[in-house]
Amino acid sequence: MQENFLHYLWRTRRFDHRDLHTTTGQSLQIHYPGEYNTNAGPDFFNARLSIDGVLWAGNVEIHLQSSEWLAHKHQFDPAYDSVILHVVHSEDQPVLRPDGSLIPCFEMSGRIPDGILSRYRQLESANSWIPCEFAFQDAPEIVKAQWLDRLMIERLEEKTAMLSGVLQRCEQHWEEALYQTIAACFGLKINVQPFESLAAGLPLRILQRHRNHPLQLEALVFGQAGFLSAQFRDAWPLSLQREYHHLANKYSLMPLDVQQWKFFRLRPTGFPTIRLAQFSSFLQQAEHLLSQLLAAQTVEEMAQYFKVTPSEYWLDHYLFERPASKLLKSTSQSFVDLILINAVAPFLFYYGRAKGLEKPQHQAFRLLEQLAPEKNTMLQGWKNLGCNPQNAFQTQSLIQLKNRYCKERRCMECAIGNAILK
Ligand code: SF4
Repeated sequence: MQENFLHYLWRTRRFDHRDLHTTTGQSLQIHYPGEYNTNAGPDFFNARLSIDGVLWAGNVEIHLQSSEWLAHKHQFDPAYDSVILHVVHSEDQPVLRPDGSLIPCFEMSGRIPDGILSRYRQLESANSWIPCEFAFQDAPEIVKAQWLDRLMIERLEEKTAMLSGVLQRCEQHWEEALYQTIAACFGLKINVQPFESLAAGLPLRILQRHRNHPLQLEALVFGQAGFLSAQFRDAWPLSLQREYHHLANKYSLMPLDVQQWKFFRLRPTGFPTIRLAQFSSFLQQAEHLLSQLLAAQTVEEMAQYFKVTPSEYWLDHYLFERPASKLLKSTSQSFVDLILINAVAPFLFYYGRAKGLEKPQHQAFRLLEQLAPEKNTMLQGWKNLGCNPQNAFQTQSLIQLKNRYCKERRCMECAIGNAILK
């Protein structure tokens, strides 16, 4: 049994309430179990109880065994001085306050309903794709829908914490932070880190000066990425090389180590060279991008900034000096969606929150609701369980559920898990 099962029982009051008493036989009445605290400090704040008819207001701490109080060294932490009740599965040792008085203790063992306990044991021991697979279909659809809505907010809030770090690094320059966020997305999973380093070393203020010069823009991008230090024969890389040499001197730029870029297991259309060429084209048309996105009325308006075709050289090359068959190397619809889902929506949400504006936050939700559901192995797993997401809002929520709850077995904190235990 995990301690969080006791948290669940205490929070939802799902235990036998007949003849409640402390381990020393004092009568106990629970008026309010307290606010659940998932951060440092006691597990529940501001509970209200009567012990032997005396009303108490304060915090509640929960452990499987009472001796864990001492093992966790709570006796030395003033945050625990205001604990009015120690709730345990079983008391193996009385626990005293620093002043020597006994902390009232309440034992949960023997009070857990059999049905809840056996379902909990099933969840705890399950080896399936998600622990609750045996009962997932039984959870009411309304519970699932409301929980998935909540998870979407949670996912955006998590991304917000990350974006706040980006904004700080960009010295509160919102356009720069957006540019860096989008750059990371161009790396997909495999080349995120070099794309981040590229954007960090090539600030937007420099790019803006060359926005109307495609050759200079591409020279800055490929040069800074480290791809222009080789010996070339083709006219296009030679021109890029010349431009970069001049611009790198002008702005004191230091290129990345080209070895950072990964090609392994990528299709040629996903090679970092192609992504960098697309990124250069994107930069040409992304002037005042944040204002443009905030003003956009439709998904199509937002998408147009990311639907780009690389310069002509890349239409028949995947690498410098390696001719290849002519294939369409414009950004695909799924790539554009990915940027809208992973960079634009979180950024609008974050911007709205930080500025106290509702409109960008609604824009972020609307965007996710209008984008097609993503497809990947994880989402196929949810489909196998009967989930049929209709848009990116729902797929993102399912990703959050699997990554942050199912994988970590946080079923006691999950609304679906709570519904299954009922
Ligand atoms: S976290 Fe929720 S959805 Fe995931 S396995 Fe547990 S109960 Fe099921």
